[in-house]
Amino acid sequence: MFPPSTISKIILDGRSFLVKRDELVHPYLQGNKYRKLHTLLQAPKETFSTIISYGGTQSNAMLAIASMCQEKGWRFLYYTKPLSTSQKSETSGNYYLARKLGMEHIEIELELYKPFISSLRPNFDPKTFIIDQGGAIDEAKSGIEVLAQEIIKANPDIQAVATPSGTGTTALFLALLLPNIKVYTIPCVGDADYLKKEMSALCTIPKNLIILQPKKKFHFAKLYDEFLAIYNKTLQAGIEFDLLYSPSLWIALLEQTDDKILYIHSGGTTGNATMLERYRRKLSQIH
Ligand SMILES: *Cc1c(COP(=O)(O)O)cnc(C)c1O
Repeated sequence: MFPPSTISKIILDGRSFLVKRDELVHPYLQGNKYRKLHTLLQAPKETFSTIISYGGTQSNAMLAIASMCQEKGWRFLYYTKPLSTSQKSETSGNYYLARKLGMEHIEIELELYKPFISSLRPNFDPKTFIIDQGGAIDEAKSGIEVLAQEIIKANPDIQAVATPSGTGTTALFLALLLPNIKVYTIPCVGDADYLKKEMSALCTIPKNLIILQPKKKFHFAKLYDEFLAIYNKTLQAGIEFDLLYSPSLWIALLEQTDDKILYIHSGGTTGNATMLERYRRKLSQIH
């Protein structure tokens, strides 16, 4: 296993933040996807022969799983909806990297996708493991536990930790495992009500978990000037963050909080190549 990730300091708008550098753990096994794969990463090679997953073709989870499977010598089958030809010919970003690492990509026709994914189960082959979209919940907890232990051990001078939410699994487990500390998060996929519903399905939302609300409605994976601006600001301050989840949280932390915060880097910097390309294309259309 990798050693504990380090903690760095950055200054934004004259305010200092600590950052837990989970994006530096490994080139492809980054951030909370690395944490969520903890149990599988611990498993001896002989435990499995094939890993199956499904979801988006730019997903950070997909790349992390591909990297794990390459290191373990496991076959990796990844099912998605049909892909655009432009995406197939990309020469950077998560999809390109994952295929280079040996991922076998299978497109399922749009109408058949949902029934096909349900048909993956029940899974009778004990050597095959299915990882659900967003990262398997039960297995995720032990990896977040390791993260929480690293934070407790480092004992940084902070009043809160912060990490952005997709499914909310990472933020929720962190809040449960660090009951004496505030955990800030923000919904990046859907709104706060949706996030609360997702979290409540797992367990009661603890009081120390604070769900910030973006002042403007941002849609997942869309391009926003504000996002590129805060991405550049944090980059100039010394750390690259992802362009999908982190911008909205950074904006809210700067506008709506004044605590001493440890930001848990959730990873995803490998997806920036394709996102920055989209920003470049958008800007060149305007000018
Ligand atoms: C997956 C991901 C998230 C969301 O994590 P959840 O546990 O689903 O809330 C946040 N940031 C990055 C960079 C991610 O890849």
